[in-house]
Amino acid sequence: MFDHPDFDHHEQVVYGCDEASGLKAIIAIHNTHLGPALGGLRIFPYASDGEALSDVLRLSRGMTYKSALAGLPLGGGKAVIIADPRRDKTPELLRAMGRLVERLGGRYITAEDSGSSETDMQWIAEETAYVTGLRRSAGESGDPSPFTALGVFHGLRAAVRHGLGRDDLEGVRVAVQGVGSVGAHLARSLEKAGAKLVISDIDASAVARLAEELGAATLPPGEILDAEVDVFAPCALGGAIDEAACRRLKARVVAGAANNQLATPAAGEALHRRGILYAPDYVANAGGVIEVAWQRRSDYDRQAVLAQVERIGATLETIFARAKREGKRPEQVADRLAEERFRPDHPRAA
Ligand code: NAD
Repeated sequence: MFDHPDFDHHEQVVYGCDEASGLKAIIAIHNTHLGPALGGLRIFPYASDGEALSDVLRLSRGMTYKSALAGLPLGGGKAVIIADPRRDKTPELLRAMGRLVERLGGRYITAEDSGSSETDMQWIAEETAYVTGLRRSAGESGDPSPFTALGVFHGLRAAVRHGLGRDDLEGVRVAVQGVGSVGAHLARSLEKAGAKLVISDIDASAVARLAEELGAATLPPGEILDAEVDVFAPCALGGAIDEAACRRLKARVVAGAANNQLATPAAGEALHRRGILYAPDYVANAGGVIEVAWQRRSDYDRQAVLAQVERIGATLETIFARAKREGKRPEQVADRLAEERFRPDHPRAA
């Protein structure tokens, strides 16, 4: 574990197994300096335990950085269950997961992520109180995606201001890759703000429906990177931008929702060399964690949530300005700012 390439001073990694329900899970707690480790539960049919471990180590680390920069009193953690969410999810499996979370005594708080739903969180909540992303009252949703999309919208606007020198989005051409929960909400907000959209998804019917609703142009998934646009918004899977993808982009700004958009640090360098402004993913997509963090509070206040989500734009402006001043890439500055918060005593390179 300690030599694993994705191990980064994680405080705790817990393996959970329940024979009766078939649960095979890993919880990684990366850092709890600022508070309990909050992060979603991903359910995915990983090809191997090693793949699941890499994913949970990387994702839990990302949550520490995300919550720190969003100004939340939370640390970073993540959980994965090795299972096919379409076939293997049962109430017994989720209750067993709830017991595993409970045994950590509140050091880790779980929530929805890819492959898990609000209903799954309700099963988990039968065994533990350390779960969020639940609806607060009947008729309301606990789904954080609209808040994630709103945060990305504010972040994208800040990036357009800094990268294109434009204060509004009227006529700004945006390519949205992936129109699932977050991408579709984002596309609607962009359309309302006057942006010209081109959208793409491997789910052809989802693209067709949204294109008709918004009057947006479409491109096949293999061509969206080449779109003649000002902004590229990755809202599908991680790793969308490698060095080859970077060479294809016509956009001057990259700002989207997907986690781990840069396939490698070299992809970030390549964007920077080409003068493409990158809005660090975990800063731009923190709207959802802000909402689920508030959902745990007894003084939940929708206006305060929206104000905090809007501050993502200001945080990105600070990052862009500091990056320009220091000749660094935005993701380097974001990492440094986050580390100053959650590792205040950590020795730092100059
Ligand atoms: P989702 O599963 O609802 O949507 C993803 C969409 O991307 C799907 O419609 C899928 O068909 C499409 N897709 C997959 N591969 C594609 C490809 N190669 N080209 C084009 N489209 C493709 O997921 P989501 O909740 O909308 O999340 C989107 C991204 O944002 C993910 O990377 C997720 O980790 C990240 N994110 C989501 C949230 C949230 O609140 N949901 C919060 C933070 C980060």
